[in-house]
Amino acid sequence: VLDDTFKDLTPRFCSYDWFQTDCLVTVVIYTKQKKGMNSEMVIVDHQDGRLRVDSILRDYSYLLHIELSYEVQEDITVRIAEKVGKVEIVLKKKNNLPWSKLGQPLECHNSFIKYTDRGLYYRKCKLVSKTEVTHDTKLFCLMLPQSTHLQVPVGQHIYLRKIIAGTEIVKPYTPVSCSLKSDFKEPFCHDSTHLILMVKIYPNGLFTPELDHLQIGDYISVSNSEGSFKKSQVQTLEDLFLLAAGTGFTPMIKLLNYVLTNVCTVRIVKLMFFNKTEDDILWRNQLEQLALKDKRFEVQFILSEPRKEWTGKQGKISSSLLSEFVKRSKKDSKLLICVCGPTPFTEQGIQFLQDLGYSKEEIHSFTA
Ligand code: FAD
Ligand code: NAD
Repeated sequence: VLDDTFKDLTPRFCSYDWFQTDCLVTVVIYTKQKKGMNSEMVIVDHQDGRLRVDSILRDYSYLLHIELSYEVQEDITVRIAEKVGKVEIVLKKKNNLPWSKLGQPLECHNSFIKYTDRGLYYRKCKLVSKTEVTHDTKLFCLMLPQSTHLQVPVGQHIYLRKIIAGTEIVKPYTPVSCSLKSDFKEPFCHDSTHLILMVKIYPNGLFTPELDHLQIGDYISVSNSEGSFKKSQVQTLEDLFLLAAGTGFTPMIKLLNYVLTNVCTVRIVKLMFFNKTEDDILWRNQLEQLALKDKRFEVQFILSEPRKEWTGKQGKISSSLLSEFVKRSKKDSKLLICVCGPTPFTEQGIQFLQDLGYSKEEIHSFTA
């Protein structure tokens, strides 16, 4: 059953078709989404002869799920005609024979339901590099299978899944870019074939020590993305304030990159970064370099357990820190405050901000 809001926005049913040449099979999905369709909204997997295409249309998911009639090669091409909402998935035939049909329908094929009701789908990704960020935090670079098309939108997280001592353990992580500077080219930086995760390893944790034990070349299951953040929240934004604690910095990374590069109305972007000690500050040098390079960006570090040499700010999140930090660049400017960190940090932050008079729409907290 479709709810009324969706009925008004998009025609009810998506459909699909397919055609072939001697060596290619093209599957076409007509989403009828006339604007705003982009390649983040289409997730394609091809595993063991099964093709799965999940088209995400606002809060809904249209699924195509087929056991293909014949074998195809691993690499797939996904093309999106944004203006007409058409998605094309091009498959290369393994033996160039004519196909009489595309294949057999599998579970939930041709269904159109709420995205949150679809359930997570996992594919195995290969660990290709592991690099230190601080004494306890590392960047894990995972390579998606060649037959997967998955781009994680700004502000969203994925889940990693692993069997540990016979039990399936699932934990959320927020993909990051490989650096804060978009002109800082590194391998795998701007492609969509890799996911980079910045993960703090807790020696007594359930999941992270196991993740840390993965060797280069090992595989781990990675889900589709989830999250309530929408890019529309920063469109025409003027002032952006980011409150991050520890690894709560991870969703801020792509957000910073996105806003500074794509939101031309933005005048100030300020990050208040809470950590225990100086050694815990993630990407401190990069943040300071960015602040020097881009006059719209400012960063403040607040330590809760500083060594005595620390001359910067200290303490934990408080109303007085926030009232001093969050200031509109002009009266009635369009503002957003994003909060992420340990649950008590996030909850206190939201409460202080509401007490200071910021509305619910002006506050976004990253949660699972
Ligand atoms: P856990 O077993 O959960 O333990 C964590 C710490 O708490 C350890 O020090 C442990 O000793 C202690 N602990 C556990 N249980 C107790 C208890 N009962 N009492 C007292 N102490 C206890 N993390 C990242 O590093 N990077 C990310 O990008 C990231 N993104 C996230 C996105 C979302 C949406 C959410 C919700 C979380 C995210 N996290 C991220 C956190 C991540 O999901 C895990 O919670 C984290 O990696 C810890 O997992 P773990 O199983 O290793 O540790
Ligand atoms: P940490 O223990 O090193 O603490 C970092 C800072 O957080 C501290 O210096 C302090 O200022 C603040 N803080 C910690 N506990 C607090 C409390 N009880 N009350 C007020 N402030 C407090 O942080 P960490 O180990 O890096 O943990 C980061 C947290 O962020 C984890 O809980 C993780 O699950 C969460 N996280 C959430 C998301 C998300 O999208 N929801 C993403 C990444 C991380």
